Amino acid sequence: MIQNPIVCKFGGSSMADAGQFRKVRDIVLSDPRRAVVAVSAPGKRSRDDVKLTDLLYAVHETASRGLDFSEPFGMIADRYLGIAADLGLKTDIARDLEEIRKKILADGKSLSASWVVSRGEYLSARLMAEFLGWEFVDAFDLIEINSLHRVTPEGYAKIGERLRRGERFLVPGFYARNAVGELETFSRGGSDITGAILANAVDASVYENWTDVSGLLMADPRIVDDPRPMPYVSYREIRELSYSGANVLHDESIAPCKAKSIPINIRNTNRPQDPGTVIGPHRKEETNGLVTGIAGRRNFSMIYIDKDMMNKERGFGARVMGILEGHGIPFEHAPTGIDSMSIIVDTAHLKPAQNEVLEAIERQLQPDKVRVFDELALVATVGHGMTGQVGVAARLFGALARRGISVRVIDQGSSEINIIIGVDNADYDETIRAIYEEFVGERG
Ligand code: ASP
Repeated sequence: MIQNPIVCKFGGSSMADAGQFRKVRDIVLSDPRRAVVAVSAPGKRSRDDVKLTDLLYAVHETASRGLDFSEPFGMIADRYLGIAADLGLKTDIARDLEEIRKKILADGKSLSASWVVSRGEYLSARLMAEFLGWEFVDAFDLIEINSLHRVTPEGYAKIGERLRRGERFLVPGFYARNAVGELETFSRGGSDITGAILANAVDASVYENWTDVSGLLMADPRIVDDPRPMPYVSYREIRELSYSGANVLHDESIAPCKAKSIPINIRNTNRPQDPGTVIGPHRKEETNGLVTGIAGRRNFSMIYIDKDMMNKERGFGARVMGILEGHGIPFEHAPTGIDSMSIIVDTAHLKPAQNEVLEAIERQLQPDKVRVFDELALVATVGHGMTGQVGVAARLFGALARRGISVRVIDQGSSEINIIIGVDNADYDETIRAIYEEFVGERG
Protein backbone atom coordinates (compact mmCIF):
# COMPACT_ATOMS: atom_id res chain seq x y z
CA MET A 1 0.00 0.00 0.00
CA ILE A 2 1.14 3.55 -0.60
CA GLN A 3 2.57 5.48 2.34
CA ASN A 4 0.17 7.73 4.22
CA PRO A 5 -2.93 6.83 2.20
CA ILE A 6 -6.28 8.53 2.53
CA VAL A 7 -8.72 6.46 4.58
CA CYS A 8 -12.40 6.99 3.74
CA LYS A 9 -15.55 6.08 5.56
CA PHE A 10 -18.90 6.20 3.79
CA GLY A 11 -21.97 6.40 6.01
CA GLY A 12 -25.40 4.86 5.59
CA SER A 13 -26.86 7.55 3.33
CA SER A 14 -23.85 7.19 1.00
CA MET A 15 -24.58 3.45 0.71
CA ALA A 16 -28.37 3.65 0.54
CA ASP A 17 -28.89 2.39 -3.02
CA ALA A 18 -27.14 1.58 -6.30
CA GLY A 19 -27.04 5.24 -7.31
CA GLN A 20 -25.16 6.08 -4.12
CA PHE A 21 -22.77 3.16 -4.66
CA ARG A 22 -21.90 4.73 -8.03
CA LYS A 23 -21.19 8.08 -6.41
CA VAL A 24 -18.95 6.37 -3.88
CA ARG A 25 -17.02 4.61 -6.61
CA ASP A 26 -16.49 7.86 -8.52
CA ILE A 27 -15.22 9.58 -5.40
CA VAL A 28 -12.92 6.76 -4.37
CA LEU A 29 -11.41 6.24 -7.80
CA SER A 30 -10.90 9.94 -8.45
CA ASP A 31 -7.88 10.04 -6.12
CA PRO A 32 -5.38 7.14 -6.15
CA ARG A 33 -4.31 8.02 -2.61
CA ARG A 34 -7.68 6.70 -1.39
CA ALA A 35 -6.63 3.17 -0.52
CA VAL A 36 -8.68 2.09 2.51
CA VAL A 37 -12.46 2.39 2.66
CA ALA A 38 -14.80 1.52 5.52
CA VAL A 39 -18.53 1.42 4.89
CA SER A 40 -21.79 1.48 6.82
CA ALA A 41 -24.86 -0.61 6.08
CA PRO A 42 -27.31 0.98 3.63
CA GLY A 43 -29.18 3.80 5.34
CA LYS A 44 -32.36 5.66 4.48
CA ARG A 45 -33.11 6.47 0.84
CA SER A 46 -35.69 9.03 1.85
CA ARG A 47 -37.00 10.55 5.04
CA ASP A 48 -39.49 7.81 5.85
CA ASP A 49 -37.33 4.90 4.73
CA VAL A 50 -35.79 2.43 7.21
CA LYS A 51 -32.09 1.91 7.91
CA LEU A 52 -30.93 -1.64 7.36
CA THR A 53 -29.32 -1.60 10.80
CA ASP A 54 -32.72 -0.92 12.35
CA LEU A 55 -34.27 -3.77 10.37
CA LEU A 56 -31.50 -6.08 11.58
CA TYR A 57 -32.15 -5.08 15.17
CA ALA A 58 -35.81 -5.94 14.54
CA VAL A 59 -34.81 -9.32 13.10
CA HIS A 60 -32.69 -10.08 16.16
CA GLU A 61 -35.39 -8.98 18.56
CA THR A 62 -38.04 -11.10 16.82
CA ALA A 63 -35.81 -14.16 16.41
CA SER A 64 -34.63 -14.03 20.02
CA ARG A 65 -38.25 -14.39 21.10
CA GLY A 66 -38.64 -17.38 18.81
CA LEU A 67 -40.98 -15.51 16.46
CA ASP A 68 -41.16 -15.35 12.68
CA PHE A 69 -38.67 -12.77 11.38
CA SER A 70 -39.32 -13.32 7.69
CA GLU A 71 -40.89 -9.91 7.09
CA PRO A 72 -37.99 -7.66 8.20
CA PHE A 73 -35.54 -10.19 6.78
CA GLY A 74 -37.29 -10.09 3.42
CA MET A 75 -36.97 -6.30 3.35
CA ILE A 76 -33.25 -6.60 4.07
CA ALA A 77 -32.74 -9.21 1.37
CA ASP A 78 -34.61 -7.08 -1.18
CA ARG A 79 -32.37 -4.08 -0.54
CA TYR A 80 -29.13 -6.01 -1.05
CA LEU A 81 -30.38 -8.04 -3.97
CA GLY A 82 -31.65 -4.86 -5.60
CA ILE A 83 -28.29 -3.10 -5.27
CA ALA A 84 -26.36 -6.14 -6.53
CA ALA A 85 -28.68 -6.58 -9.54
CA ASP A 86 -28.63 -2.91 -10.46
CA LEU A 87 -24.83 -2.80 -10.37
CA GLY A 88 -24.50 -6.14 -12.14
CA LEU A 89 -22.43 -7.66 -9.33
CA LYS A 90 -21.58 -11.35 -9.26
CA THR A 91 -20.97 -11.79 -5.53
CA ASP A 92 -23.43 -14.48 -4.51
CA ILE A 93 -25.27 -12.28 -2.12
CA ALA A 94 -28.37 -14.48 -2.25
CA ARG A 95 -26.32 -17.37 -0.86
CA ASP A 96 -24.85 -15.20 1.88
CA LEU A 97 -28.32 -14.00 2.84
CA GLU A 98 -29.60 -17.55 2.93
CA GLU A 99 -26.75 -18.64 5.19
CA ILE A 100 -27.41 -15.75 7.53
CA ARG A 101 -31.13 -16.52 7.58
CA LYS A 102 -30.49 -20.20 8.36
CA LYS A 103 -28.10 -19.34 11.14
CA ILE A 104 -30.60 -16.96 12.72
CA LEU A 105 -33.32 -19.58 12.36
CA ALA A 106 -31.18 -22.25 14.02
CA ASP A 107 -29.55 -20.16 16.77
CA GLY A 108 -31.89 -17.17 16.96
CA LYS A 109 -32.32 -17.39 20.71
CA SER A 110 -28.63 -17.46 21.49
CA LEU A 111 -27.18 -15.31 18.71
CA SER A 112 -25.92 -11.95 19.88
CA ALA A 113 -27.52 -8.78 18.57
CA SER A 114 -24.01 -7.72 17.59
CA TRP A 115 -23.56 -10.61 15.19
CA VAL A 116 -26.95 -10.20 13.54
CA VAL A 117 -26.67 -6.44 13.20
CA SER A 118 -23.08 -6.55 11.94
CA ARG A 119 -24.25 -8.43 8.85
CA GLY A 120 -25.49 -5.08 7.55
CA GLU A 121 -21.98 -3.66 7.25
CA TYR A 122 -20.55 -7.05 6.26
CA LEU A 123 -22.76 -7.41 3.21
CA SER A 124 -22.48 -3.81 2.18
CA ALA A 125 -18.68 -4.04 2.28
CA ARG A 126 -18.73 -7.27 0.26
CA LEU A 127 -20.76 -5.59 -2.46
CA MET A 128 -18.68 -2.44 -2.52
CA ALA A 129 -15.45 -4.47 -2.61
CA GLU A 130 -16.59 -6.19 -5.76
CA PHE A 131 -17.88 -2.97 -7.29
CA LEU A 132 -14.49 -1.32 -6.77
CA GLY A 133 -12.52 -4.46 -7.53
CA TRP A 134 -10.76 -4.16 -4.17
CA GLU A 135 -9.79 -6.69 -1.52
CA PHE A 136 -12.37 -7.30 1.21
CA VAL A 137 -11.05 -7.70 4.77
CA ASP A 138 -13.46 -8.62 7.53
CA ALA A 139 -13.28 -6.23 10.49
CA PHE A 140 -13.63 -9.26 12.75
CA ASP A 141 -10.27 -10.59 11.55
CA LEU A 142 -8.63 -7.18 11.39
CA ILE A 143 -9.61 -5.12 14.43
CA GLU A 144 -9.26 -6.33 18.02
CA ILE A 145 -10.58 -4.25 20.90
CA ASN A 146 -9.79 -4.71 24.59
CA SER A 147 -12.25 -4.73 27.47
CA LEU A 148 -12.27 -0.92 27.43
CA HIS A 149 -13.24 -0.98 23.77
CA ARG A 150 -9.88 0.39 22.72
CA VAL A 151 -7.38 -0.91 20.22
CA THR A 152 -4.03 -1.51 21.92
CA PRO A 153 -0.72 -0.41 20.36
CA GLU A 154 -0.10 -4.06 19.37
CA GLY A 155 -3.58 -4.15 17.86
CA TYR A 156 -2.82 -1.10 15.74
CA ALA A 157 0.47 -2.62 14.65
CA LYS A 158 -1.32 -5.80 13.52
CA ILE A 159 -3.84 -3.85 11.46
CA GLY A 160 -1.05 -1.83 9.87
CA GLU A 161 0.94 -4.96 9.05
CA ARG A 162 -2.04 -6.70 7.49
CA LEU A 163 -3.00 -3.76 5.33
CA ARG A 164 0.54 -3.10 4.19
CA ARG A 165 0.48 -6.57 2.67
CA GLY A 166 -1.96 -5.40 -0.03
CA GLU A 167 -2.89 -2.39 -2.10
CA ARG A 168 -6.50 -1.34 -1.58
CA PHE A 169 -9.01 -2.53 0.96
CA LEU A 170 -12.67 -2.48 1.75
CA VAL A 171 -13.56 -3.01 5.42
CA PRO A 172 -17.01 -3.25 7.00
CA GLY A 173 -17.53 -0.58 9.64
CA PHE A 174 -19.18 -0.77 13.06
CA TYR A 175 -17.73 -3.97 14.53
CA ALA A 176 -14.58 -5.69 15.75
CA ARG A 177 -13.38 -8.75 17.67
CA ASN A 178 -13.56 -8.20 21.42
CA ALA A 179 -11.27 -9.34 24.22
CA VAL A 180 -13.02 -12.71 24.51
CA GLY A 181 -12.88 -13.36 20.79
CA GLU A 182 -16.49 -12.52 20.04
CA LEU A 183 -17.87 -10.16 17.46
CA GLU A 184 -18.96 -6.91 19.03
CA THR A 185 -20.52 -3.84 17.48
CA PHE A 186 -19.61 -0.34 18.58
CA SER A 187 -22.37 1.99 19.68
CA ARG A 188 -24.68 3.41 17.00
CA GLY A 189 -22.94 5.37 14.29
CA GLY A 190 -19.81 3.38 15.08
CA SER A 191 -18.52 2.98 11.53
CA ASP A 192 -16.95 6.38 12.15
CA ILE A 193 -14.82 4.67 14.80
CA THR A 194 -13.75 1.94 12.38
CA GLY A 195 -12.55 4.56 9.91
CA ALA A 196 -10.63 6.38 12.63
CA ILE A 197 -8.96 3.17 13.82
CA LEU A 198 -7.89 2.31 10.28
CA ALA A 199 -6.61 5.85 9.72
CA ASN A 200 -4.45 5.58 12.83
CA ALA A 201 -3.19 2.09 11.93
CA VAL A 202 -1.98 3.07 8.45
CA ASP A 203 -0.80 6.59 9.37
CA ALA A 204 -3.31 8.14 7.03
CA SER A 205 -2.59 11.56 5.59
CA VAL A 206 -6.26 12.34 6.13
CA TYR A 207 -9.38 10.54 7.32
CA GLU A 208 -12.25 11.44 5.01
CA ASN A 209 -15.63 10.93 6.59
CA TRP A 210 -18.22 11.00 3.80
CA THR A 211 -21.78 11.75 4.80
CA ASP A 212 -24.75 13.74 3.50
CA VAL A 213 -23.83 17.22 4.71
CA SER A 214 -21.02 19.47 3.52
CA GLY A 215 -19.38 19.64 6.91
CA LEU A 216 -20.33 21.50 10.02
CA LEU A 217 -22.09 24.80 10.31
CA MET A 218 -21.38 27.44 12.92
CA ALA A 219 -24.87 27.05 14.37
CA ASP A 220 -27.95 24.89 13.94
CA PRO A 221 -29.59 25.87 10.61
CA ARG A 222 -33.01 25.20 12.10
CA ILE A 223 -32.37 28.12 14.43
CA VAL A 224 -30.07 30.47 12.54
CA ASP A 225 -30.84 31.25 8.89
CA ASP A 226 -28.10 30.13 6.57
CA PRO A 227 -25.31 29.84 9.13
CA ARG A 228 -21.76 29.98 7.84
CA PRO A 229 -19.87 26.75 7.30
CA MET A 230 -17.00 25.86 9.59
CA PRO A 231 -13.97 25.23 7.37
CA TYR A 232 -11.63 24.24 10.21
CA VAL A 233 -12.26 23.19 13.78
CA SER A 234 -9.82 21.78 16.30
CA TYR A 235 -10.21 18.40 18.02
CA ARG A 236 -10.83 20.22 21.29
CA GLU A 237 -13.43 22.52 19.83
CA ILE A 238 -15.31 19.71 18.16
CA ARG A 239 -15.49 17.81 21.45
CA GLU A 240 -17.03 20.82 23.13
CA LEU A 241 -19.43 21.41 20.26
CA SER A 242 -20.55 17.84 19.77
CA TYR A 243 -21.04 17.35 23.48
CA SER A 244 -23.37 20.30 23.23
CA GLY A 245 -25.43 18.84 20.45
CA ALA A 246 -23.65 19.39 17.12
CA ASN A 247 -23.54 15.82 15.86
CA VAL A 248 -22.05 14.64 12.64
CA LEU A 249 -19.31 12.40 13.86
CA HIS A 250 -19.19 9.70 16.54
CA ASP A 251 -17.30 11.28 19.44
CA GLU A 252 -15.14 8.18 19.92
CA SER A 253 -13.69 8.63 16.46
CA ILE A 254 -11.70 11.71 17.44
CA ALA A 255 -9.15 10.10 19.77
CA PRO A 256 -7.54 7.63 17.30
CA CYS A 257 -6.95 10.49 14.85
CA LYS A 258 -5.92 13.03 17.45
CA ALA A 259 -3.28 10.61 18.73
CA LYS A 260 -1.46 10.94 15.41
CA SER A 261 -2.63 14.42 14.44
CA ILE A 262 -4.51 13.00 11.45
CA PRO A 263 -7.00 15.54 10.12
CA ILE A 264 -10.60 14.39 9.73
CA ASN A 265 -12.35 15.84 6.71
CA ILE A 266 -16.16 15.71 6.79
CA ARG A 267 -17.35 15.56 3.17
CA ASN A 268 -20.66 15.28 1.32
CA THR A 269 -21.05 12.28 -1.01
CA ASN A 270 -23.79 14.15 -2.87
CA ARG A 271 -21.65 17.28 -3.33
CA PRO A 272 -18.06 16.06 -3.61
CA GLN A 273 -17.00 19.46 -4.94
CA ASP A 274 -17.58 21.01 -1.49
CA PRO A 275 -14.47 21.15 0.70
CA GLY A 276 -16.36 20.24 3.88
CA THR A 277 -14.97 20.76 7.36
CA VAL A 278 -11.52 19.74 8.55
CA ILE A 279 -11.14 18.69 12.17
CA GLY A 280 -7.52 18.79 13.21
CA PRO A 281 -4.93 20.00 15.69
CA HIS A 282 -5.36 23.56 16.92
CA ARG A 283 -3.66 25.91 14.47
CA LYS A 284 -3.45 29.60 15.10
CA GLU A 285 -3.57 30.49 11.42
CA GLU A 286 -6.84 28.58 11.01
CA THR A 287 -8.52 30.46 13.83
CA ASN A 288 -10.47 33.23 12.20
CA GLY A 289 -12.81 35.15 14.40
CA LEU A 290 -13.38 34.77 18.08
CA VAL A 291 -16.00 32.08 17.88
CA THR A 292 -15.75 28.81 15.97
CA GLY A 293 -19.23 27.53 16.67
CA ILE A 294 -22.28 27.67 18.89
CA ALA A 295 -24.20 24.61 20.01
CA GLY A 296 -26.54 23.61 22.76
CA ARG A 297 -29.16 21.31 24.17
CA ARG A 298 -32.44 21.74 25.98
CA ASN A 299 -33.94 19.89 28.93
CA PHE A 300 -31.51 20.01 31.78
CA SER A 301 -32.33 20.28 35.47
CA MET A 302 -30.35 22.10 38.09
CA ILE A 303 -30.17 20.84 41.65
CA TYR A 304 -29.41 23.86 43.79
CA ILE A 305 -28.02 23.21 47.29
CA ASP A 306 -27.44 25.96 49.78
CA LYS A 307 -25.74 25.56 53.15
CA ASP A 308 -24.10 28.08 55.38
CA MET A 309 -20.34 27.55 55.68
CA MET A 310 -20.44 24.89 52.96
CA ASN A 311 -16.93 25.81 51.90
CA LYS A 312 -15.55 24.69 55.28
CA GLU A 313 -17.22 21.31 55.17
CA ARG A 314 -14.89 18.64 53.87
CA GLY A 315 -16.13 16.26 51.22
CA PHE A 316 -19.46 18.05 50.68
CA GLY A 317 -19.17 18.01 46.90
CA ALA A 318 -17.91 14.44 46.87
CA ARG A 319 -20.92 13.28 48.87
CA VAL A 320 -23.36 15.02 46.52
CA MET A 321 -21.66 13.39 43.55
CA GLY A 322 -21.69 10.06 45.39
CA ILE A 323 -25.47 10.28 45.77
CA LEU A 324 -25.90 10.97 42.06
CA GLU A 325 -23.51 8.19 41.20
CA GLY A 326 -25.45 5.81 43.42
CA HIS A 327 -28.51 6.49 41.27
CA GLY A 328 -26.60 6.18 38.02
CA ILE A 329 -27.04 9.86 37.16
CA PRO A 330 -24.10 11.43 35.31
CA PHE A 331 -23.57 15.12 36.00
CA GLU A 332 -22.87 17.65 33.30
CA HIS A 333 -21.63 20.72 35.15
CA ALA A 334 -21.31 21.82 38.72
CA PRO A 335 -20.95 25.58 39.08
CA THR A 336 -20.37 26.35 42.75
CA GLY A 337 -20.65 29.36 45.01
CA ILE A 338 -19.10 29.75 48.45
CA ASP A 339 -22.11 28.47 50.33
CA SER A 340 -24.00 26.95 47.46
CA MET A 341 -23.54 24.37 44.82
CA SER A 342 -25.53 23.68 41.67
CA ILE A 343 -25.41 20.45 39.83
CA ILE A 344 -26.72 20.34 36.31
CA VAL A 345 -28.00 17.01 35.08
CA ASP A 346 -30.00 15.78 32.15
CA THR A 347 -33.67 15.98 33.17
CA ALA A 348 -34.39 12.57 31.67
CA HIS A 349 -31.73 11.02 33.94
CA LEU A 350 -32.89 12.81 37.07
CA LYS A 351 -36.66 12.47 36.96
CA PRO A 352 -37.03 8.73 37.64
CA ALA A 353 -34.92 9.05 40.82
CA GLN A 354 -35.53 12.67 41.79
CA ASN A 355 -37.34 12.04 45.08
CA GLU A 356 -34.76 9.56 46.32
CA VAL A 357 -31.90 11.86 45.33
CA LEU A 358 -33.40 14.84 47.16
CA GLU A 359 -34.14 12.75 50.23
CA ALA A 360 -30.59 11.44 50.31
CA ILE A 361 -29.18 14.97 49.99
CA GLU A 362 -31.41 16.18 52.86
CA ARG A 363 -30.49 13.25 55.04
CA GLN A 364 -26.76 13.05 54.41
CA LEU A 365 -25.86 16.71 53.96
CA GLN A 366 -28.51 18.57 55.92
CA PRO A 367 -28.52 21.60 53.68
CA ASP A 368 -30.37 24.83 54.46
CA LYS A 369 -32.10 24.62 51.15
CA VAL A 370 -32.30 22.23 48.23
CA ARG A 371 -34.37 22.88 45.13
CA VAL A 372 -34.64 21.59 41.60
CA PHE A 373 -35.09 23.93 38.63
CA ASP A 374 -36.21 22.32 35.40
CA GLU A 375 -36.54 23.52 31.81
CA LEU A 376 -32.95 24.64 31.52
CA ALA A 377 -31.12 24.83 28.19
CA LEU A 378 -27.34 24.93 27.93
CA VAL A 379 -25.65 26.87 25.16
CA ALA A 380 -21.93 26.55 24.49
CA THR A 381 -20.00 29.22 22.62
CA VAL A 382 -16.74 27.66 21.52
CA GLY A 383 -13.55 28.97 19.98
CA HIS A 384 -9.81 29.09 20.51
CA GLY A 385 -10.08 32.66 19.28
CA MET A 386 -11.68 33.66 22.59
CA THR A 387 -8.60 32.68 24.61
CA GLY A 388 -6.95 35.64 26.22
CA GLN A 389 -9.33 38.12 24.60
CA VAL A 390 -10.68 40.82 26.83
CA GLY A 391 -14.37 41.55 26.81
CA VAL A 392 -15.73 38.44 25.08
CA ALA A 393 -17.99 37.57 27.99
CA ALA A 394 -19.14 41.19 28.22
CA ARG A 395 -20.18 41.15 24.58
CA LEU A 396 -21.95 37.84 24.97
CA PHE A 397 -23.92 38.88 28.04
CA GLY A 398 -24.59 42.29 26.54
CA ALA A 399 -26.14 40.67 23.47
CA LEU A 400 -28.40 38.58 25.67
CA ALA A 401 -29.31 41.47 27.96
CA ARG A 402 -30.38 43.57 24.98
CA ARG A 403 -32.90 40.88 24.13
CA GLY A 404 -34.08 40.57 27.70
CA ILE A 405 -32.77 37.00 28.05
CA SER A 406 -31.94 36.15 31.61
CA VAL A 407 -28.93 33.93 32.14
CA ARG A 408 -29.43 31.38 34.91
CA VAL A 409 -26.06 29.66 34.88
CA ILE A 410 -22.60 30.71 33.75
CA ASP A 411 -19.74 28.28 33.38
CA GLN A 412 -16.52 29.23 31.69
CA GLY A 413 -14.03 26.41 31.57
CA SER A 414 -10.54 27.39 32.66
CA SER A 415 -9.33 26.56 29.15
CA GLU A 416 -11.23 29.66 27.97
CA ILE A 417 -12.21 28.02 24.71
CA ASN A 418 -15.75 27.57 25.92
CA ILE A 419 -18.39 29.69 27.63
CA ILE A 420 -21.43 27.68 28.66
CA ILE A 421 -24.55 29.44 29.78
CA GLY A 422 -27.85 28.10 31.03
CA VAL A 423 -31.09 29.81 29.98
CA ASP A 424 -34.77 28.88 30.07
CA ASN A 425 -35.72 26.29 27.48
CA ALA A 426 -38.07 28.91 26.04
CA ASP A 427 -35.16 31.30 25.38
CA TYR A 428 -32.95 28.68 23.73
CA ASP A 429 -33.39 29.63 20.06
CA GLU A 430 -33.21 33.34 20.72
CA THR A 431 -30.03 32.87 22.76
CA ILE A 432 -28.29 31.08 19.92
CA ARG A 433 -29.42 33.72 17.42
CA ALA A 434 -28.23 36.52 19.69
CA ILE A 435 -24.77 35.02 20.14
CA TYR A 436 -24.44 34.19 16.47
CA GLU A 437 -25.40 37.69 15.46
CA GLU A 438 -23.02 39.25 17.95
CA PHE A 439 -19.96 37.24 16.98
CA VAL A 440 -20.56 36.00 13.47
CA GLY A 441 -22.87 38.16 11.47
CA GLU A 442 -26.16 39.77 10.89
CA ARG A 443 -29.36 37.82 11.20
CA GLY A 444 -30.13 36.27 7.80
N1 ASP B 1 -25.04 1.06 10.68
C1 ASP B 1 -24.71 1.44 12.02
C2 ASP B 1 -25.74 2.38 12.59
O1 ASP B 1 -26.74 2.62 11.97
C3 ASP B 1 -23.34 1.97 12.16
C4 ASP B 1 -23.01 3.15 11.29
O2 ASP B 1 -23.69 3.40 10.31
O3 ASP B 1 -22.05 3.84 11.60
O4 ASP B 1 -25.61 2.82 13.69
